[in-house]
Amino acid sequence: MSQAQDTFRNRVRAFAEKEIAPRAADIDCDNDFPADLWKKMGDAGLHGLTVSHEYGGSDQGYLAHTIAMEEISRASGAIGLSYAAHSNLCLDNLYRYANRSQRENYLPRLCGGEWVGALAMSEPGAGSDVIGSMSCHAEQIDDHWIANGTKTWITNGPDADVLIVYMRTAAIEAGSKSVTAFLVEKGMPGFHTEDRMDKLGMRGSNTGSLIFKDCLIPEENVLGEVNDGVSILMHGLDAERLVLAGGPVGLMQAALDLVLPFMHERKQFGQPIGNFELMQARLANMYTALQASRAYTYDVARRFDHSRALRKDTTGCLMFASEHAVQVALDAIQILGARGYMNESPAGRLLRDAKVYEIGGGTNEIRHILIGRELFAETDMQQDTEFIARHA
Ligand SMILES: Cc1cc2nc3c(=O)[nH]c(=O)nc-3n(C[C@H](O)[C@H](O)[C@H](O)COP(=O)(O)OP(=O)(O)OC[C@H]3O[C@@H](n4cnc5c(N)ncnc54)[C@H](O)[C@@H]3O)c2cc1C
Repeated sequence: MSQAQDTFRNRVRAFAEKEIAPRAADIDCDNDFPADLWKKMGDAGLHGLTVSHEYGGSDQGYLAHTIAMEEISRASGAIGLSYAAHSNLCLDNLYRYANRSQRENYLPRLCGGEWVGALAMSEPGAGSDVIGSMSCHAEQIDDHWIANGTKTWITNGPDADVLIVYMRTAAIEAGSKSVTAFLVEKGMPGFHTEDRMDKLGMRGSNTGSLIFKDCLIPEENVLGEVNDGVSILMHGLDAERLVLAGGPVGLMQAALDLVLPFMHERKQFGQPIGNFELMQARLANMYTALQASRAYTYDVARRFDHSRALRKDTTGCLMFASEHAVQVALDAIQILGARGYMNESPAGRLLRDAKVYEIGGGTNEIRHILIGRELFAETDMQQDTEFIARHA
């Protein structure tokens, strides 16, 4: 970690400890998105970490973004998730694929936190098979597109001012050339959102459905090229999974923050429970899961800052961290005993928040399939002469 990255982490941590952590329990309990935080996060320079200075960002790259995600999630998992949807899913993709006038129009407001962003691919009938089963569609008529259909499970959907929305724009037979990304703004005729959903965890990070009924989208709101949305979606998922991995890493750190003082304070059989070897073993498992997840995630982030072609590892670090975060949260509850089971303890919230990372952005089953498939294809003995040479 460079000196600059260490300084940056300390700055984000100080912000998160002051502005986010004291509100985390209320955000979870009330299930209310704290809109005022967005501008504060913008003023603190947290939103445009992968966007150039020209558009209000700070151009620090994906490792910095992942570290920010970790520190924010350590303070509140829900704010972390909404932050990722805004700063990565929406902002980063918009920066990468928008033309100059779209960049000038949207990026400064998103980087400053005056606007909230979101990204919508999932639909009621299109989850893991998001491209093949996509039924939201748009047709071009003169200088507009007319969009119809429903998107669902969209993080920040109910709060977003601008959303990247994927729509089918050509026959499904066109395969990877049948989807287009659009920039949809709150208030466009024919577009509305439904009320936020009531969730197990990540409460306060609003999730909702988007309804399009003959929605008029101006043609200048196409993001990238018409019918090139699949490529944007797939490349976007690589960065998304990497940045999201900071979420479970931050939640694991929060679990350790919680149990360590407790293991000193809580005494049974005349001594701190931290003296018991079974408690120490559980602590060791928590610590090594955190360290391994963090090291893998940072390594991928460092490499991603130089080359974005790391699909199996961006997927891998989120899969690994998300599985461990659920177990680490369960370990925290066990160490805290009855106190961990009570809702006044944050331990249950950590567990509920951690679980989403095994589902959102593609489930862990799909991640297993993707990693296994890539590794198998890379080592195809028929085609890979290097592999043959190595194993001859
Ligand atoms: C809190 C939250 C926030 C979200 N935010 C967003 C967002 O901002 N934008 C967005 O577009 N989407 C969002 N999502 C949706 C998320 O990306 C989808 O939930 C995810 O892609 C899985 O789709 P699904 O839930 O429809 O599950 P399904 O695809 O219906 O899967 C159901 C089960 O079947 C398994 N399964 C499916 N196919 C296979 C297979 N081939 N082999 C083995 N098992 C399989 C899955 O792993 C899963 O266990 C969010 C979801 C949640 C919970």
